[in-house]
Amino acid sequence: MTTRPLKAPLSPAPADAEPPWHTLEAGATLAALATDPERGLGEAEVGARLARLGPNELVDRGVKSPWKILWEQLTAVMVLILFAAAGLSAFLEKWLEAGAILAIVLLFALLGFLQEYRAERAIAALRRLAVPVVRARRGGEWREISARDLVPGDVIALEAGNVVPADVRLLESANLRVQEAALTGESEPVEKEVAALTRADAPLGDRRNLGFMGTTVTYGRGAAVVVETGMRTQLGRIATLIQDVKGGMTPLQARLDRVGKGLAAAGVVVALLILFVGLAAGEAFEDMVLTAISVAVAVVPEGLPAVVTFTLALGAQKMLRRSALIRKLPAVETLGSVTTICSDKTGTLTENRMTVTVLDVAGERVDLSQTLHARLPALERGDARPEVSLGTSPLMRLTLAAAALCNDATVKTSDEGRLDTLGDPTEGALLVAAANAGLAQGELTAALPRVAELPFDSERKRMTTVHARARTVPDGLGAVLGRDGLNPGLGFVALTKGAVDGLLGLSAHVFDGSDVRPLDPEWRRRIEGANDALARDGMRVLGVAFRLLDAPLADEGVEQGLVFLGLVGMIDPPRPEVREAVARCRAAGIRPIMITGDHPLTASFIARDLGISTDERVITGVDLARMTDADLGRAASDVNVFARVSPEHKLRIVEALQTRGQVVAMTGDGVNDAPALKKADIGVAMGITGTDVSKEAADMVLRDDNFATIVASVEEGRTIYDNLRRFVKFAITGNVGKVGVMLLWPLPFALTGLPLGSAVALLPLQLLWLNLMTDGLLGLAMGVEKPESNVMGRPPQSPKEGIFSGGMGWHVVWVGAYITVVALGVGFWYYRQDLPQWQTMIFTTLAFLQVFQALAIRSNTEPVWRIGLFSNRLLVGLTLLVVGLQLAVLYVPLLQATFLRLVPLSAADLLIAAGLGFTLLVAVEIEKWLARRRRRGRPAPAHA
Ligand code: ATP
Repeated sequence: MTTRPLKAPLSPAPADAEPPWHTLEAGATLAALATDPERGLGEAEVGARLARLGPNELVDRGVKSPWKILWEQLTAVMVLILFAAAGLSAFLEKWLEAGAILAIVLLFALLGFLQEYRAERAIAALRRLAVPVVRARRGGEWREISARDLVPGDVIALEAGNVVPADVRLLESANLRVQEAALTGESEPVEKEVAALTRADAPLGDRRNLGFMGTTVTYGRGAAVVVETGMRTQLGRIATLIQDVKGGMTPLQARLDRVGKGLAAAGVVVALLILFVGLAAGEAFEDMVLTAISVAVAVVPEGLPAVVTFTLALGAQKMLRRSALIRKLPAVETLGSVTTICSDKTGTLTENRMTVTVLDVAGERVDLSQTLHARLPALERGDARPEVSLGTSPLMRLTLAAAALCNDATVKTSDEGRLDTLGDPTEGALLVAAANAGLAQGELTAALPRVAELPFDSERKRMTTVHARARTVPDGLGAVLGRDGLNPGLGFVALTKGAVDGLLGLSAHVFDGSDVRPLDPEWRRRIEGANDALARDGMRVLGVAFRLLDAPLADEGVEQGLVFLGLVGMIDPPRPEVREAVARCRAAGIRPIMITGDHPLTASFIARDLGISTDERVITGVDLARMTDADLGRAASDVNVFARVSPEHKLRIVEALQTRGQVVAMTGDGVNDAPALKKADIGVAMGITGTDVSKEAADMVLRDDNFATIVASVEEGRTIYDNLRRFVKFAITGNVGKVGVMLLWPLPFALTGLPLGSAVALLPLQLLWLNLMTDGLLGLAMGVEKPESNVMGRPPQSPKEGIFSGGMGWHVVWVGAYITVVALGVGFWYYRQDLPQWQTMIFTTLAFLQVFQALAIRSNTEPVWRIGLFSNRLLVGLTLLVVGLQLAVLYVPLLQATFLRLVPLSAADLLIAAGLGFTLLVAVEIEKWLARRRRRGRPAPAHA
């Protein structure tokens, strides 16, 4: 669902279409929808509503209909040229030619149609996968479901980063702000509330208790009930074009399209030239028109557009199999050119499986990992909550209690007795640690119910919740809360947790277990020292603090004059596969960079552990804010770790790298990451932890959140680019060869003084047939060639380099010339012997030359025997098919005599044609061998 601004603001929906939802109280809305806010809908009811109302999706009018695809195929420039050729043949009363050209054109159009149709369908399938996931209450439990499955009456949770998945009525709003520009044109986010409105005709922008499909939550948290789904939503009413995965041409496609059109134009010009020169020289009109048609037909690369679409779409599907969802087709090829990958740390480089291992309060420290290990057997026996001894320190329990209260995750004991958490893993880890110390979430929240909050955001790097202090506290908690000052009287308490550096700046006091003491420089040093020590070991450290209040304040003013409680250190192990992926990046000339909100020492430890950096240099957000763009560009070109940065800094980092000529892939998951994702050459969003907003901004979504998947996609992208170039090389060389034969046919006659008996070397139909066999069939197989062995052992291809760079132009010229000379030579030789099969020999030799060329160029570097003759099974199959068809047109009488006007060849002739074809394989192998030798002589390129 894109949120493109509309030209005109919407008029409110007609009043009779549905109850005016914004005028109903929340309770009345729930009643009208027959749903229960605590339990949500039951599965049976959901099924019934889905059956009645259909899935929650917009009818996608962006998809091309098969007719449109067919029409585009039939009106493509190349096809039109061929139609003209058929028309001309008909005009000359060459009915067979006209009919056959038409048949083959239609065949090509059909081939193109089928491939494009498949590609469209593949893209449509990708688009369906990109549907956001929603947290909905079903049958009394929170579940993650696809937005497609929502029905009116579903109770859902909303939080910063979500795209509102349907039209909803708010039930709860904690500073929930929604960006509605797409619908209302209002550029500032709107604060949502729960109260009913009185004006039934209030404009959409004023319906503050409703949320609309396709708008995005920028801040806060809330709950809502779905009131309308699918095409009945406000967005659905105006949806004319909603596309998730963008179509359109990729830069390479556009470039190839230009190459194709250029060739077609060149074909027409050359054809006309030949016609006029021939006529001027007194040749027969009919012969010359026939020749001109043949040349035009030979030049047009009929298979080009179809093969390119097919290869790109197939590539996107292959990437999906490696967990990378491509949202925009150009990404497939841009991936191959990436020079720098900027990655988040948490969850992408690490597993995002946080475990609290250290508690540090008032100079006292417990290492929980020891106790954890000791407890594992008990946990495995199914004993869910054996209490961890926290020594004598109530202060530690208090710190954990506060961390568990200032928390949006939930914890549940699984059937096997494990503690499973839902929500942010950092918060889940805190809940587990608290539960293991006997502090159950339910009891804590009953004793201190939350009344207000300032949600976490990665800019501030902390969150605060405000709790009412209840009169009665359950046993067990009394000892913690009562004695230690959180519950001495009534009133409220604010609990804050977040990055220690920030928190210390907001704290005026520190609680040492018995007293609240001023936070003097001595204390500050002690806390900072403890924080650094934990971070240096690669731990994520959170500080916890509190403040007693008389009133339930809920603005940033709460986060002042805090009382510091303690530190919680947690580990998050690096993903095991990332170390190898980083090494592969380096070998491929790609620089990995870590960008994290975490502490510089934590970041540096993990970066060194993974091989991302070899020294301790880190650029922090504070450094970054002080740097000019030029400074940043210089620094970013050799420091690989950025820590304590905010999402807005990511944008500057991308820009700095891009101005230095880098092609940047950048990961992100939060709402504020969207600008950097859009700016990056490849924006990469996280499929599991990413917000909907980041996914919409991205070119690609990692379904497994894994850094290694980016590297795998780069490899896939490079392979696809190689294969496309291979096909272009093949098709164009072949056509150069054929045009050469057509144009230069008179040359040997002129040189030897022999009278030119036949004006044309090959007939139009013969040329079309050859193009169909080579560009059409063999070309397809090139799109699926396996990666070259050095695909990740060479530097990235610069996007500025043309398609013909890297020796390809030269290859086209010499192989084209080789094909011309060999085919012409054999034809002329037979002609001179007065053998009737001279034309058939040109035809057959050309076919074999291209078959062997297709085999020879399967790798740009390796000899064919090393990459395995049968490793591309599609190519083997299609080669056999081509050879079979070639024999069929030679020996099946009807095809041979009437259709292609061929003469049967003897076994010896056939061997000569095949043998001549084989010489091209040898010649190309020699070219590759020379290139390998040259490369060995050169030192390997230095990588960053
Ligand atoms: P990245 O994913 O980019 O590596 P990160 O996960 O380290 O970044 P954030 O999630 O923005 O970055 O966290 C930055 C800092 O904010 C953390 O180092 C921590 O101090 C603090 N923090 C993280 N999660 C929470 C939370 N749930 N509550 C309070 N503070 C948090």
